[in-house]
Amino acid sequence: MSADPDCIFCKILAGELPATIVDQDEHTVSFMDIHPATRGHALVIPRAHSRDLLSIEPNDLEAVALAAKRLAERVNEYLGADGVNVINSCGAAAWQTVFHFHIHVIPRYKGDPLRLPWVPGPGDPVEIAAAAAQLNGSTD
Ligand code: 5GP
Ligand code: ZN
Repeated sequence: MSADPDCIFCKILAGELPATIVDQDEHTVSFMDIHPATRGHALVIPRAHSRDLLSIEPNDLEAVALAAKRLAERVNEYLGADGVNVINSCGAAAWQTVFHFHIHVIPRYKGDPLRLPWVPGPGDPVEIAAAAAQLNGSTD
């Protein structure tokens, strides 16, 4: 689908909703997030509507990834960030709230308030191996 009339990001692409655009090319547009996690938080979207990572066309995904890399480079160079998180949420269970594929480019600054949303700790090796077997399709 190239545009969804009910999609707010399609409306931004069509100029029907305002956005502060920071980068664009043939396949992508990048604009500032209205609820920034840190200073400079931007979103990269494909011009063609697709719901999420599972449905985006490979050429659009490639273009979005390259645009995210461009922004990551600028975040370091122009904003003086110390790092960057590049995040995609796929599905409501994974925090996706806008169902037009997008990548968050979130500048990170030493001492900023963001924290990992999980507590790293050792997993059960048997369970890790079982999940791996399912992931690589060898459990049939
Ligand atoms: P998600 O939760 O789907 O991963 O990310 C959606 C993002 O879109 C959120 O960070 C939210 O702040 C941002 N957002 C939602 N509505 C608008 C809007 O109308 N304009 C802009 N610029 N960002 C939006
Ligand atoms: Zn859309």
